[in-house]
Amino acid sequence: MKNKKLVMIPGPTPVLRSIQDQMGRETVAFKDPDFVNDFKSVVKDLKELWKTSGEVFVIAGSGTLGMEMAVCNTVQKGDSILIISHGYFGDRFTELCERKGLDIDVISSEWGKVVPVEDIKAKLESKNYKAVTVTHVDTATGVMADIEAIGDVVKDFEDTMFIVDGVCATAAAKEYVDEMHIDILLTGTQKAFGVAPGLTMLWASEKAMARRESLGMIPEYYADFNKWLPIMHDPMKYFGTPAVNLIWALQESIRIIKEEGIDNRYDRHEKNANAMQKAVEALGFSILAEKGYRAVSLSNCLYPEGINDAEFRQVLADEGIVVAGGLGPYAGKLFRLGHMGNIDTHDMVSVIATIERALYKVGYPVKFGTGVGVLLENLM
Ligand code: PMP
Repeated sequence: MKNKKLVMIPGPTPVLRSIQDQMGRETVAFKDPDFVNDFKSVVKDLKELWKTSGEVFVIAGSGTLGMEMAVCNTVQKGDSILIISHGYFGDRFTELCERKGLDIDVISSEWGKVVPVEDIKAKLESKNYKAVTVTHVDTATGVMADIEAIGDVVKDFEDTMFIVDGVCATAAAKEYVDEMHIDILLTGTQKAFGVAPGLTMLWASEKAMARRESLGMIPEYYADFNKWLPIMHDPMKYFGTPAVNLIWALQESIRIIKEEGIDNRYDRHEKNANAMQKAVEALGFSILAEKGYRAVSLSNCLYPEGINDAEFRQVLADEGIVVAGGLGPYAGKLFRLGHMGNIDTHDMVSVIATIERALYKVGYPVKFGTGVGVLLENLM
Protein backbone atom coordinates (compact mmCIF):
# COMPACT_ATOMS: atom_id res chain seq x y z
CA MET A 1 0.00 0.00 0.00
CA LYS A 2 1.25 3.45 -0.89
CA ASN A 3 1.74 6.18 1.72
CA LYS A 4 -0.42 9.31 1.63
CA LYS A 5 1.25 12.13 -0.22
CA LEU A 6 2.09 15.34 1.63
CA VAL A 7 3.12 18.29 -0.51
CA MET A 8 5.83 20.12 1.42
CA ILE A 9 7.20 22.37 -1.32
CA PRO A 10 7.42 26.07 -0.46
CA GLY A 11 3.99 26.76 -1.92
CA PRO A 12 1.35 25.80 -2.65
CA THR A 13 1.21 24.45 0.88
CA PRO A 14 -1.30 21.90 2.24
CA VAL A 15 -4.86 23.26 2.17
CA LEU A 16 -7.06 22.33 5.14
CA ARG A 17 -10.41 20.66 4.47
CA SER A 18 -12.38 23.66 5.81
CA ILE A 19 -10.58 25.92 3.32
CA GLN A 20 -11.08 23.44 0.47
CA ASP A 21 -14.77 23.33 1.31
CA GLN A 22 -15.07 27.05 0.63
CA MET A 23 -13.66 26.50 -2.85
CA GLY A 24 -16.18 23.72 -3.42
CA ARG A 25 -19.19 25.90 -2.59
CA GLU A 26 -21.68 26.80 -5.26
CA THR A 27 -20.49 30.06 -6.80
CA VAL A 28 -22.83 33.02 -6.33
CA ALA A 29 -23.23 36.34 -8.12
CA PHE A 30 -20.49 38.74 -7.12
CA LYS A 31 -23.19 41.22 -6.11
CA ASP A 32 -24.83 38.67 -3.83
CA PRO A 33 -25.22 40.61 -0.56
CA ASP A 34 -23.74 37.80 1.53
CA PHE A 35 -20.69 37.58 -0.70
CA VAL A 36 -20.28 41.36 -0.70
CA ASN A 37 -20.22 41.24 3.10
CA ASP A 38 -17.71 38.39 3.06
CA PHE A 39 -15.41 40.36 0.73
CA LYS A 40 -15.74 43.43 2.96
CA SER A 41 -14.79 41.42 6.03
CA VAL A 42 -11.70 40.02 4.26
CA VAL A 43 -10.44 43.51 3.40
CA LYS A 44 -11.23 44.81 6.91
CA ASP A 45 -9.49 41.90 8.64
CA LEU A 46 -6.38 42.15 6.46
CA LYS A 47 -6.17 45.84 7.24
CA GLU A 48 -6.52 45.30 10.98
CA LEU A 49 -4.30 42.25 11.31
CA TRP A 50 -1.42 43.80 9.34
CA LYS A 51 -2.00 47.13 11.04
CA THR A 52 -2.17 49.81 8.41
CA SER A 53 -4.10 53.04 8.15
CA GLY A 54 -3.63 52.72 4.39
CA GLU A 55 -5.40 50.50 1.88
CA VAL A 56 -5.72 46.79 1.14
CA PHE A 57 -6.13 45.19 -2.29
CA VAL A 58 -7.24 41.61 -2.94
CA ILE A 59 -6.92 40.84 -6.65
CA ALA A 60 -7.09 37.68 -8.79
CA GLY A 61 -3.59 36.84 -9.98
CA SER A 62 -0.42 35.28 -8.60
CA GLY A 63 2.25 36.89 -6.43
CA THR A 64 4.05 38.22 -9.50
CA LEU A 65 1.04 40.43 -10.23
CA GLY A 66 1.50 41.84 -6.72
CA MET A 67 5.14 42.65 -7.55
CA GLU A 68 4.04 44.37 -10.74
CA MET A 69 1.33 46.36 -8.94
CA ALA A 70 3.73 47.44 -6.20
CA VAL A 71 6.14 48.87 -8.75
CA CYS A 72 3.76 50.38 -11.32
CA ASN A 73 1.72 52.25 -8.70
CA THR A 74 4.70 53.89 -7.02
CA VAL A 75 7.31 54.66 -9.70
CA GLN A 76 7.29 55.71 -13.33
CA LYS A 77 9.61 55.62 -16.34
CA GLY A 78 12.93 57.30 -15.62
CA ASP A 79 12.63 57.08 -11.80
CA SER A 80 15.45 55.50 -9.83
CA ILE A 81 14.75 52.31 -7.92
CA LEU A 82 17.01 50.31 -5.61
CA ILE A 83 16.63 46.53 -5.59
CA ILE A 84 18.00 44.51 -2.68
CA SER A 85 18.40 40.96 -3.92
CA HIS A 86 18.96 37.89 -1.79
CA GLY A 87 18.36 35.49 -4.66
CA TYR A 88 16.09 34.46 -7.52
CA PHE A 89 12.99 36.38 -6.43
CA GLY A 90 14.93 39.54 -5.63
CA ASP A 91 16.32 39.34 -9.16
CA ARG A 92 12.77 39.07 -10.52
CA PHE A 93 12.23 42.71 -9.50
CA THR A 94 15.18 43.67 -11.73
CA GLU A 95 13.66 41.93 -14.74
CA LEU A 96 10.29 43.53 -14.03
CA CYS A 97 11.73 47.03 -13.57
CA GLU A 98 13.83 46.79 -16.75
CA ARG A 99 10.59 46.47 -18.74
CA LYS A 100 9.35 49.72 -17.23
CA GLY A 101 12.32 51.84 -18.23
CA LEU A 102 13.37 52.57 -14.66
CA ASP A 103 16.88 53.57 -13.62
CA ILE A 104 17.84 50.46 -11.66
CA ASP A 105 20.53 49.88 -9.06
CA VAL A 106 20.88 46.45 -7.50
CA ILE A 107 22.71 45.34 -4.38
CA SER A 108 22.93 41.55 -4.27
CA SER A 109 24.20 39.27 -1.58
CA GLU A 110 25.95 35.97 -2.11
CA TRP A 111 23.21 33.26 -1.98
CA GLY A 112 22.62 32.32 1.64
CA LYS A 113 23.79 35.68 2.98
CA VAL A 114 22.09 39.07 3.40
CA VAL A 115 22.97 42.57 2.24
CA PRO A 116 24.09 44.47 5.37
CA VAL A 117 21.65 47.20 6.43
CA GLU A 118 24.52 49.75 6.48
CA ASP A 119 25.11 49.10 2.76
CA ILE A 120 21.44 49.81 2.05
CA LYS A 121 21.66 53.04 4.04
CA ALA A 122 24.81 54.17 2.22
CA LYS A 123 23.23 53.49 -1.16
CA LEU A 124 20.05 55.39 -0.26
CA GLU A 125 22.18 58.37 0.78
CA SER A 126 23.96 58.36 -2.58
CA LYS A 127 20.96 59.06 -4.83
CA ASN A 128 17.28 60.00 -4.81
CA TYR A 129 15.56 56.63 -5.06
CA LYS A 130 11.81 56.70 -5.54
CA ALA A 131 11.52 53.15 -4.20
CA VAL A 132 13.50 50.29 -2.70
CA THR A 133 12.43 46.64 -2.96
CA VAL A 134 13.27 43.89 -0.50
CA THR A 135 12.17 40.25 -0.60
CA HIS A 136 11.25 39.31 2.97
CA VAL A 137 12.00 35.61 2.43
CA ASP A 138 13.75 34.71 -0.80
CA THR A 139 12.37 31.27 -1.56
CA ALA A 140 15.42 30.32 -3.61
CA THR A 141 17.86 30.80 -0.74
CA GLY A 142 15.75 30.51 2.41
CA VAL A 143 17.19 33.82 3.60
CA MET A 144 14.96 36.11 5.66
CA ALA A 145 15.67 39.84 5.53
CA ASP A 146 15.39 41.99 8.66
CA ILE A 147 12.43 44.05 7.47
CA GLU A 148 12.12 45.97 10.72
CA ALA A 149 15.75 47.13 10.63
CA ILE A 150 15.57 48.05 6.94
CA GLY A 151 12.29 49.92 7.49
CA ASP A 152 13.96 51.87 10.25
CA VAL A 153 16.54 53.10 7.74
CA VAL A 154 14.18 53.73 4.81
CA LYS A 155 11.78 55.82 6.94
CA ASP A 156 14.30 58.68 6.95
CA PHE A 157 14.17 58.93 3.15
CA GLU A 158 10.90 60.72 2.57
CA ASP A 159 10.80 60.25 -1.18
CA THR A 160 11.57 56.52 -1.07
CA MET A 161 8.80 53.92 -1.01
CA PHE A 162 9.63 50.75 0.93
CA ILE A 163 8.31 47.80 -1.11
CA VAL A 164 8.34 44.40 0.61
CA ASP A 165 7.72 41.12 -1.22
CA GLY A 166 6.05 38.96 1.40
CA VAL A 167 5.00 36.12 -0.91
CA CYS A 168 6.97 33.56 1.14
CA ALA A 169 6.64 35.35 4.48
CA THR A 170 3.27 37.01 5.06
CA ALA A 171 1.23 35.20 7.74
CA ALA A 172 4.37 33.33 8.85
CA ALA A 173 6.84 36.10 9.77
CA LYS A 174 5.99 39.33 11.54
CA GLU A 175 5.00 42.18 9.22
CA TYR A 176 3.26 45.18 10.74
CA VAL A 177 2.88 47.57 7.85
CA ASP A 178 2.80 51.00 9.52
CA GLU A 179 5.04 50.13 12.49
CA MET A 180 7.73 48.76 10.19
CA HIS A 181 7.44 51.73 7.81
CA ILE A 182 6.45 49.47 4.92
CA ASP A 183 4.81 51.36 2.05
CA ILE A 184 3.76 48.37 -0.03
CA LEU A 185 3.57 44.80 1.22
CA LEU A 186 2.54 42.20 -1.33
CA THR A 187 1.85 38.51 -1.03
CA GLY A 188 -0.06 35.54 -2.46
CA THR A 189 -2.58 33.09 -1.06
CA GLN A 190 -0.68 29.86 -1.73
CA LYS A 191 1.99 29.93 0.95
CA ALA A 192 1.57 30.82 4.62
CA PHE A 193 -2.16 31.53 4.22
CA GLY A 194 -2.64 27.89 3.21
CA VAL A 195 -5.11 28.73 0.43
CA ALA A 196 -4.87 27.50 -3.15
CA PRO A 197 -2.92 29.74 -5.55
CA GLY A 198 -4.81 32.52 -7.33
CA LEU A 199 -5.03 35.72 -5.30
CA THR A 200 -2.52 38.44 -4.64
CA MET A 201 -2.92 40.77 -1.68
CA LEU A 202 -1.32 44.16 -1.21
CA TRP A 203 -1.19 46.62 1.66
CA ALA A 204 -0.43 50.22 0.67
CA SER A 205 0.46 52.90 3.23
CA GLU A 206 -1.03 56.38 3.11
CA LYS A 207 2.31 57.56 1.72
CA ALA A 208 2.11 54.98 -1.08
CA MET A 209 -1.44 56.04 -1.93
CA ALA A 210 -0.34 59.68 -2.09
CA ARG A 211 2.44 58.62 -4.48
CA ARG A 212 -0.11 56.82 -6.65
CA GLU A 213 -2.14 60.03 -6.83
CA SER A 214 0.91 62.06 -7.84
CA LEU A 215 1.58 59.75 -10.80
CA GLY A 216 -1.69 60.60 -12.59
CA MET A 217 -2.61 58.19 -15.39
CA ILE A 218 -0.33 55.12 -15.53
CA PRO A 219 0.12 52.80 -18.53
CA GLU A 220 -1.14 49.72 -16.66
CA TYR A 221 -4.86 48.98 -16.60
CA TYR A 222 -5.63 45.80 -14.60
CA ALA A 223 -2.77 46.57 -12.19
CA ASP A 224 -3.83 50.16 -11.45
CA PHE A 225 -4.69 50.81 -7.77
CA ASN A 226 -7.14 53.50 -8.88
CA LYS A 227 -9.22 50.98 -10.82
CA TRP A 228 -9.54 48.68 -7.81
CA LEU A 229 -9.79 51.10 -4.91
CA PRO A 230 -13.54 51.77 -5.31
CA ILE A 231 -14.16 47.99 -5.23
CA MET A 232 -12.04 47.50 -2.12
CA HIS A 233 -14.11 50.20 -0.42
CA ASP A 234 -17.39 48.80 -1.71
CA PRO A 235 -17.35 45.32 -3.31
CA MET A 236 -20.86 45.97 -4.64
CA LYS A 237 -19.07 47.95 -7.38
CA TYR A 238 -17.51 46.29 -10.42
CA PHE A 239 -14.18 46.54 -12.17
CA GLY A 240 -13.06 42.93 -12.80
CA THR A 241 -14.97 39.85 -11.66
CA PRO A 242 -13.73 38.85 -8.20
CA ALA A 243 -12.56 35.26 -7.65
CA VAL A 244 -15.59 34.50 -5.47
CA ASN A 245 -14.60 31.06 -4.18
CA LEU A 246 -10.98 32.02 -3.51
CA ILE A 247 -12.15 35.00 -1.50
CA TRP A 248 -14.26 32.66 0.61
CA ALA A 249 -11.27 30.37 1.02
CA LEU A 250 -9.17 33.35 2.11
CA GLN A 251 -11.88 34.35 4.56
CA GLU A 252 -11.69 30.90 6.15
CA SER A 253 -7.90 31.13 6.30
CA ILE A 254 -8.19 34.50 8.05
CA ARG A 255 -10.71 33.00 10.49
CA ILE A 256 -8.12 30.33 11.33
CA ILE A 257 -5.40 32.98 11.74
CA LYS A 258 -7.60 34.97 14.13
CA GLU A 259 -8.51 31.87 16.09
CA GLU A 260 -4.82 31.03 16.52
CA GLY A 261 -3.84 34.66 17.17
CA ILE A 262 -1.50 36.24 14.67
CA ASP A 263 1.38 36.65 17.11
CA ASN A 264 0.98 33.02 18.21
CA ARG A 265 1.14 32.10 14.54
CA TYR A 266 4.41 33.99 14.15
CA ASP A 267 5.81 32.29 17.26
CA ARG A 268 4.70 28.87 16.01
CA HIS A 269 6.47 29.39 12.70
CA GLU A 270 9.67 30.41 14.45
CA LYS A 271 9.60 27.42 16.78
CA ASN A 272 8.71 24.96 14.00
CA ALA A 273 11.42 26.29 11.69
CA ASN A 274 14.05 25.99 14.39
CA ALA A 275 12.99 22.40 15.17
CA MET A 276 12.85 21.36 11.49
CA GLN A 277 16.25 22.92 10.76
CA LYS A 278 17.90 21.25 13.76
CA ALA A 279 16.33 17.90 12.79
CA VAL A 280 17.64 17.95 9.21
CA GLU A 281 21.04 19.10 10.45
CA ALA A 282 21.12 16.12 12.82
CA LEU A 283 20.61 13.90 9.77
CA GLY A 284 23.64 15.31 7.94
CA PHE A 285 22.14 18.15 5.87
CA SER A 286 23.19 21.77 6.29
CA ILE A 287 21.09 24.90 5.90
CA LEU A 288 22.08 27.30 3.12
CA ALA A 289 20.96 30.49 4.90
CA GLU A 290 23.36 31.93 7.44
CA LYS A 291 22.40 31.76 11.12
CA GLY A 292 20.32 34.70 12.27
CA TYR A 293 18.74 35.09 8.81
CA ARG A 294 17.05 31.73 8.36
CA ALA A 295 13.51 31.79 7.06
CA VAL A 296 10.70 30.64 9.32
CA SER A 297 8.69 29.49 6.30
CA LEU A 298 11.04 27.10 4.51
CA SER A 299 14.45 25.48 4.79
CA ASN A 300 16.91 24.99 1.98
CA CYS A 301 18.76 21.82 2.91
CA LEU A 302 22.17 21.18 1.33
CA TYR A 303 22.89 17.50 0.72
CA PRO A 304 25.68 15.73 2.53
CA GLU A 305 28.37 14.22 0.28
CA GLY A 306 27.23 11.25 -1.81
CA ILE A 307 23.50 11.91 -2.20
CA ASN A 308 22.03 12.34 -5.67
CA ASP A 309 19.33 15.02 -5.67
CA ALA A 310 17.03 13.53 -8.33
CA GLU A 311 17.20 10.06 -6.80
CA PHE A 312 16.68 11.31 -3.25
CA ARG A 313 13.67 13.45 -4.10
CA GLN A 314 12.14 10.61 -6.13
CA VAL A 315 12.55 8.15 -3.25
CA LEU A 316 11.18 10.75 -0.83
CA ALA A 317 8.15 11.31 -3.09
CA ASP A 318 7.60 7.55 -3.37
CA GLU A 319 7.65 7.42 0.44
CA GLY A 320 5.04 10.19 0.55
CA ILE A 321 6.72 13.60 0.87
CA VAL A 322 7.07 15.99 -2.06
CA VAL A 323 9.76 18.67 -1.75
CA ALA A 324 11.19 21.12 -4.29
CA GLY A 325 14.63 21.13 -5.91
CA GLY A 326 17.22 23.89 -5.72
CA LEU A 327 17.17 26.86 -8.10
CA GLY A 328 19.96 28.52 -10.10
CA PRO A 329 23.44 27.72 -8.78
CA TYR A 330 21.95 25.37 -6.18
CA ALA A 331 20.06 23.09 -8.59
CA GLY A 332 21.06 19.54 -7.66
CA LYS A 333 22.78 20.67 -4.47
CA LEU A 334 19.85 21.13 -2.11
CA PHE A 335 16.17 20.48 -1.65
CA ARG A 336 13.66 23.08 -0.48
CA LEU A 337 11.32 22.12 2.30
CA GLY A 338 8.30 24.26 3.09
CA HIS A 339 7.04 24.35 6.68
CA MET A 340 4.59 27.22 6.67
CA GLY A 341 0.88 27.79 6.87
CA ASN A 342 -1.51 25.32 8.40
CA ILE A 343 0.81 22.37 8.92
CA ASP A 344 0.78 20.62 12.28
CA THR A 345 2.98 18.44 14.46
CA HIS A 346 1.78 15.27 12.73
CA ASP A 347 2.93 16.67 9.40
CA MET A 348 6.35 17.63 10.74
CA VAL A 349 6.97 14.27 12.42
CA SER A 350 5.98 12.54 9.18
CA VAL A 351 8.29 14.72 7.13
CA ILE A 352 11.35 14.06 9.26
CA ALA A 353 10.59 10.33 9.60
CA THR A 354 10.14 10.11 5.83
CA ILE A 355 13.45 11.87 5.22
CA GLU A 356 15.04 9.22 7.47
CA ARG A 357 13.46 6.41 5.41
CA ALA A 358 14.55 8.05 2.15
CA LEU A 359 18.13 8.41 3.40
CA TYR A 360 18.13 4.73 4.36
CA LYS A 361 16.75 3.73 0.95
CA VAL A 362 19.41 5.66 -0.98
CA GLY A 363 22.08 3.95 1.13
CA TYR A 364 23.06 6.85 3.37
CA PRO A 365 23.91 5.82 6.95
CA VAL A 366 21.09 6.82 9.26
CA LYS A 367 20.14 5.80 12.76
CA PHE A 368 16.34 5.78 12.75
CA GLY A 369 14.82 8.26 15.13
CA THR A 370 17.78 10.68 15.12
CA GLY A 371 15.94 13.44 13.26
CA VAL A 372 12.58 12.77 14.86
CA GLY A 373 14.22 12.84 18.31
CA VAL A 374 15.82 16.23 17.69
CA LEU A 375 12.59 17.55 16.20
CA LEU A 376 10.56 16.56 19.25
CA GLU A 377 13.17 17.81 21.71
CA ASN A 378 12.89 21.22 20.09
CA LEU A 379 9.14 21.20 19.77
CA MET A 380 8.15 19.98 23.21
N1 PMP B 1 8.26 36.26 -4.54
C1 PMP B 1 8.61 35.21 -3.80
C2 PMP B 1 9.45 35.42 -2.60
C3 PMP B 1 8.17 33.94 -4.16
O1 PMP B 1 8.50 32.89 -3.42
C4 PMP B 1 7.36 33.77 -5.29
C5 PMP B 1 6.84 32.41 -5.69
N2 PMP B 1 7.56 31.33 -5.31
C6 PMP B 1 7.03 34.91 -6.02
C7 PMP B 1 7.47 36.14 -5.61
C8 PMP B 1 6.16 34.81 -7.23
O2 PMP B 1 4.87 34.43 -6.86
P1 PMP B 1 3.91 33.66 -7.87
O3 PMP B 1 4.58 32.39 -8.26
O4 PMP B 1 2.68 33.45 -7.06
O5 PMP B 1 3.69 34.57 -9.02
